This record gives sequence, structure tokens and C-alpha cells, in this order.
Amino acid sequence: ASMANNFQKKQYIINNIDEAIKNEHIKVYYQPVVNAASGKLCGLEALARWEDPQYGFLSPADFIQTLEEYYQIYKLDMFVVEKVCRNLSQRKNRGMPLIPVSLNFSRRDFDSLNLADDVEACLQKYGIDKKLIHIEVTESTLSENDEKLKEILRRFRSNGYALWLDDFGAGYSGLNVLKEYDFDMMKIDMKFLSGFSGNTKARHILKNIITMAKELDMSTLTEGVETDEAYQFLKENGCEQIQGYLFGRPMPGAELYEKIKTGIYQLDL
Ligand code: C2E
Ligand code: CA
Ligand code: CA
Repeated sequence: ASMANNFQKKQYIINNIDEAIKNEHIKVYYQPVVNAASGKLCGLEALARWEDPQYGFLSPADFIQTLEEYYQIYKLDMFVVEKVCRNLSQRKNRGMPLIPVSLNFSRRDFDSLNLADDVEACLQKYGIDKKLIHIEVTESTLSENDEKLKEILRRFRSNGYALWLDDFGAGYSGLNVLKEYDFDMMKIDMKFLSGFSGNTKARHILKNIITMAKELDMSTLTEGVETDEAYQFLKENGCEQIQGYLFGRPMPGAELYEKIKTGIYQLDL
């Protein structure tokens, strides 16, 4: 029964993605990223949510993999790019502060030779500065000799975008691939924080990853920070940026901007 259910859900996702995009059932949530030193907001990560009339609230765990599997993820990711650009341009027109946003891309997106051009076109359409957009690629998508991926990443880079390596250490590709790619930021996967309290090994590992990233010319951001203890440790050990429930969950843009307006979040741009 559960398999049939799963299959039905997959079918539903594939059959309804176009409608969901058209009717704006896909929402962009934003999670705060803070500067470790100041504890103030320095960036946002755009994360997709699907608020479906039939299924209710769907999280990425429900639909990302299916969209990837059926080659539909490009639509979703370009929709998120468009929403984020539109949102930034509205804020720009109102003279409000502009906070950089990082965007998630799947390996499948890079199969479209146009990815870098499509993103570029969208930013131009809305008059958005490239410095406001970071391109996230998960470590699991990297492999050696992937010339296509490298070519498109180079194109992004030469167009002026920062490249962020997502989920570093989640355990797919290993350290070796770091030799072959250039990233500006390493996002350290949250699994390194599990059992952080009372585990001296976890601390040694984190500390050395931060040092290694620095030596490879990358800044670091640690994800999944839920406790002040972890935050203080990361700050003391030179991690520049922090993301996690300690500073806020992903939330709708309106809620986030309200929190900026009321001073719950202060900006460090
Ligand atoms: P991710 O890119 O690693 O995003 C971070 C995930 O960790 C988010 O889950 C976020 O809600 C969660 N998280 C953040 N802070 C904490 C914390 O302190 N504790 C815990 N336990 N979790 C935390 P979310 O939004 O469910 O997204 C899951 C994954 O789905 C993302 O992982 C990303 O790989 C993918 N995804 C989300 N939106 C998109 C999208 O628009 N396009 C693509 N291609 N992938 C997306
Ligand atoms: Ca991400
Ligand atoms: Ca991540």
C-alpha cells in the first residue's frame, strides 16, 4: 500500500508541476545566514516549498528527487531564480536593502547547456547585480573529469557569480575532487554537528575542515547550527558564516522582511 501510495505521489508531482508553477503553489522560503563574528544577517538561502491544494504542504524531500528523476527539476529551479530576482527587484525599486541570496541547483540542471545563460538572462531582465546571487552546487554532484559541469561552472564564474559548494562532507565524492574545482565558499554539512556536544573528535574534524578550506581559498559556512555552544565554537575557529535553526528556520519572504523591519534581524551586508 505504501509503495502504491508513493507511486501515486510521484505521478501526482510529475503531472502537476507545471500547474503548481503556473498557479504559484511553489513558494520560495528564505533561511537566514548570519555573519559569525557579528551574529547579524548577511545572506539568505532560497528553499522551495510546494503548498498543494490536494496534498497540503510538501517539503523538498517529497518532490526534489522525483523532479530530478523525471528531468523536470530545471523548471522548478528556474522558477525559483525568477521569483528571487523579482523579489529583489521589488525591494530595489522601493529603495530597501538588498540581501544576497544563494540558489540551489541540481546536477541535472547542468545538463542543459543554457543554465548559465538562462540565469544571466533572468538577472538582466530584473536588473539584478550578480553579487546578490550565489550558485550552490552539492558536493554529491561533483566527480572527476565532468567536463560539462566544469564548463558551465566556469561560465558562471566568468559571468561574475560566486560558486558555493553545498553539503561538503555529506560523504559522496571525497576530498580528491576539491583539486579539480574552484569554489568561493564551502558549506560544511550539518552532519558534522551531530553529537557535537561532548564529542571532541567532532570538534577536531570541524576545526581542520575550516583550516583546509582556508588553505584552498574558500570561505566557510556551517549549516545546521542549532545550539549556542556550536555557534561559539565555530566562531572561535574561524568559520565566517552560520546557518541553522539557532538563527532561524526557512520562512516566507514577508515574514523575514517583517523581522528585519522590527529589528529581530539586523543586517551586516
Ligand atoms: P540544503 O540545500 O542542504 O538546504 C538546507 C536544509 O537544511 C533545508 O531543508 C533546511 O530547512 C535544513 N536546515 C537548515 N537549518 C537546519 C538546522 O539547524 N537543523 C536541521 N535539522 N535542519 C536545518 P529543506 O528546505 O527541507 O531542503 C532540503 C534540500 O532540498 C536542500 O538541502 C536542497 O538540497 C534541496 N532543495 C530545496 N529547495 C531546492 C530548490 O529550489 N532546488 C533544488 N535543486 N534543490 C532544493
Ligand atoms: Ca543548499
Ligand atoms: Ca546544504
